[in-house]
Amino acid sequence: MKYLIETIGCQMNVCESDALSNMLSNYGMLQVHNIVDADVIILNTCSVRAQAEQKAFSYIGRVEELKKQKPNVKIIVIGCMAERLGIKIRKRFKSVDLVIGSKNINNFALKIVNLCNLAKIDNNILSKKSTEVGRCITIIRGCNNFCSYCVVPFVRGQEVSLDNKIIISECEEMVKSGAKEIMLLGQNVNSYKHGTVDFVSLVRDICKIDGLERLRFMTNHPKNLSDDLINLIATEKKVCHHVHLPMQSGSNKVLKEMNRNYTYEYYLALINKLRSKIADISITTDIIVGFPGETEKDFNNTLKALKDIFFDGLYVFRYSSRPNTRASRMVDDVPLEEKKRRHSIILNESNKISSEIVLSMVGKTFEVLVENFKSNILEGRTGGGRKVFIKSTSKDYVGKVFNVHISESKINSLFGNIV
Ligand code: SAM
Ligand code: SF4
Repeated sequence: MKYLIETIGCQMNVCESDALSNMLSNYGMLQVHNIVDADVIILNTCSVRAQAEQKAFSYIGRVEELKKQKPNVKIIVIGCMAERLGIKIRKRFKSVDLVIGSKNINNFALKIVNLCNLAKIDNNILSKKSTEVGRCITIIRGCNNFCSYCVVPFVRGQEVSLDNKIIISECEEMVKSGAKEIMLLGQNVNSYKHGTVDFVSLVRDICKIDGLERLRFMTNHPKNLSDDLINLIATEKKVCHHVHLPMQSGSNKVLKEMNRNYTYEYYLALINKLRSKIADISITTDIIVGFPGETEKDFNNTLKALKDIFFDGLYVFRYSSRPNTRASRMVDDVPLEEKKRRHSIILNESNKISSEIVLSMVGKTFEVLVENFKSNILEGRTGGGRKVFIKSTSKDYVGKVFNVHISESKINSLFGNIV
């Protein structure tokens, strides 16, 4: 039986789709990438922004059309939107066969297998056992923070940290099957705590795995980025010098309304601490524009923060009201056109900064883990997460770390030679 998984949303969703795909492949189901080849079409949804939900609705609509020609095709909708709008999805799309919300993640595979009349499979896989160099594993699910704009705590529930022994054994398995880099994922990854094991000790233990070259993690909430963790990033050779630290806004008034529990000054002090301990740290962030009540002055504070901090990269989102959240009871008073304007100003500024940063890397040498080989080009990444392309005729470099001299930059990408 052939299945296709379409994923909407963040890196965590991509990782969960990979894990699900691993479970289904273990059973003998074959993953395809062309929708017309699939017997089972699985859509992994996201509820974080209204746009993501609209995208899912239109995808299901298109798949329904396809099912008219191929009535035996099974349509399965999973993830956050399935959790939040399961009943609505079933009512509106009669041909959807199965809806599984994100709180039932542990039963995903079993339910799919039952629907397809297949035999039992191993339902305990947390990560994808592919042959890829870089893998990911979700170590903590849900979130307790209740930022006023965010639907995650409602659709994913309370924070649950997974058993450290299971995580370690999964990571060992990944390394045995060729992984060189592992990314630990969670909405608030550094609040991980299982019994007496906290995030810092978990990272230390994973780094002991022989054969693992690099470890990354995201997302970090500023209030949980402890001195211990900063020291660990500074001293543990395998931990990449990259921190994704969502700022959301540079205005204290907006941060308070967002219930982020820090001020801009606190955030800036964290950045300074990171940079003083780890000179080559790469810092990326998330920004929301057009939050209720965000004035031009608030927005300018965010823009100034961007210029002052000089982020290595960022994701910027236009605020959209999400049901049940505290902000949904505020007046969504920044007009869409204004949100779009602010969004594009932030994006332009970020691209300018990014081009300056990549240009400043030209002529220098960086450690690069080679992840892929395509059309005589090796693709790799620096510890800071920048993509590097290297001309080569051999794929034997894949999975190894090399010193690469950067000879050229284009927008966000770097080109270089192994030295
Ligand atoms: N847990 C992470 C944190 O707080 O740092 C972020 C996870 S959230 C799924 C990813 C990003 O989506 C957030 O950092 C925020 O910028 C954005 N986001 C969340 N809710 C949003 C909303 N209602 N409108 C626009 N952007 C939103
Ligand atoms: Fe949402 Fe805030 Fe939790 Fe991130 S920390 S998932 S933004 S509630």
